[in-house]
Amino acid sequence: MAQQDVVIIGGGISGLSLAFYCSQAGMKTTLIEKDKAVGGSFASHHYSSNGDSFWLELGAHTCYSSYQNLLGIVDACGIFDTIIPREKVPFTLLRDGEVKSFMSGLGIPELLVSAPNLFRLKKDNMTVKEYYSKIVGANNYSNTVSHFFNAVPSQVTDDFPADMMFKSRPKRKDVLKNYTFRDGLQSVAHAIAARKGIDVRTGSAAESVTISGGNYVVRTEDGQEYTAGSLALALPSAAASRLLQNVNQAVAHHLSLLKYADVDSVGVVVRKENVSLKPVAAIISPNDTFFSVVSRDTVKDDNFRGFAFHFRPGLDDNAKFKRISDVLGIGLPKIEHTFTKMNIVPSLRKGHREWARKADDLLAGARKLYLSGNYFGGMAIEDCVSRSHDEFDRMAGGK
Ligand SMILES: Cc1cc2nc3c(=O)[nH]c(=O)nc-3n(C[C@H](O)[C@H](O)[C@H](O)COP(=O)(O)OP(=O)(O)OC[C@H]3O[C@@H](n4cnc5c(N)ncnc54)[C@H](O)[C@@H]3O)c2cc1C
Repeated sequence: MAQQDVVIIGGGISGLSLAFYCSQAGMKTTLIEKDKAVGGSFASHHYSSNGDSFWLELGAHTCYSSYQNLLGIVDACGIFDTIIPREKVPFTLLRDGEVKSFMSGLGIPELLVSAPNLFRLKKDNMTVKEYYSKIVGANNYSNTVSHFFNAVPSQVTDDFPADMMFKSRPKRKDVLKNYTFRDGLQSVAHAIAARKGIDVRTGSAAESVTISGGNYVVRTEDGQEYTAGSLALALPSAAASRLLQNVNQAVAHHLSLLKYADVDSVGVVVRKENVSLKPVAAIISPNDTFFSVVSRDTVKDDNFRGFAFHFRPGLDDNAKFKRISDVLGIGLPKIEHTFTKMNIVPSLRKGHREWARKADDLLAGARKLYLSGNYFGGMAIEDCVSRSHDEFDRMAGGK
């Protein structure tokens, strides 16, 4: 095919937002995604029955008014009017077989003694456990709060850098504090992919990258080749590392140092009348086989309710469905539909900012090579889009 200005590998929000910026600047842009559809961790699964349709998120579910770069793209794609509010339903704790409020898991005297540390302590160079044990008290942290944190990236977060978990960013005043989209978050991915100027290739993984005549050549599993002066990877770190083996060993090695976790997600759709659980945003159950159950109760539906169980990896289907049935209090025949999805999330550690700085130093010395993803500024959607914005600026500056 004709030579492109840039080939981007990975069609999650990191790759898509980078493709958006490149195409806006008039660059000939190809985006390669191994799955049939773009989105990655934007995974809105749709179900319809007798004319009733429903969707359930098996990945990201909530955006905030502070996601300014994302909102800029949403605006430009003309889908601002598809932003919808999320119902105010509680985040809950499942303990001793009962769904309770989050506050019920906190010891108030310990909280009152510890809370002033919020004004004294800085998150810099502390792990989540080190910092938050001091803010809420060690018992509150280990009994309750840590399990809510673990639910965010679906893994144990004790050793995560504290300053990368929840960041405060300037908010846009004209947008709901938190929101989703009428047809789910993946509709944002589809809107970006439909933009003029982005050549989207789905359904075949990039399997090798070489350099020929001063250009990058990306070969996909179906035997196609894509050639461009610039190459951007927006993939989980291990996949990016493998692809760079032949073209930049230093960056490939640096990427291989990062750890990551698999998230094994199962979504179930049930008729409303078949489940008696009160509406919830999510259920967190300390030390269970899942990190969280994220519900669709945040966007009411007349017919269905949906629950995405984010399991620890390695369970068989029997174990997963037994737990789903127990938590929802319904027999398996009452489950009307199921979806599955594997997501990969980074396991960030204290000192990650140094890792990211070194990655940028290596990239500065590389030949028109760009990296985006959820393992630079943080895992939140806005972190991904901000990273892509920065990488686009570097590309546009010819660096
Ligand atoms: C369950 C879950 C819930 C979350 N909830 C929220 C939330 O509510 N709010 C929030 O802000 N953040 C949330 N996050 C975090 C955020 O959604 C992710 O960090 C972000 O979407 C990651 O985007 P990405 O493009 O970097 O990676 P991904 O979405 O993982 O995309 C990488 C893409 O690369 C593709 N790929 C891999 N290998 C190849 C190859 N060889 N060739 C071609 N393509 C390849 C993959 O198929 C995938 O589509 C959540 C994450 C998860 C997993």
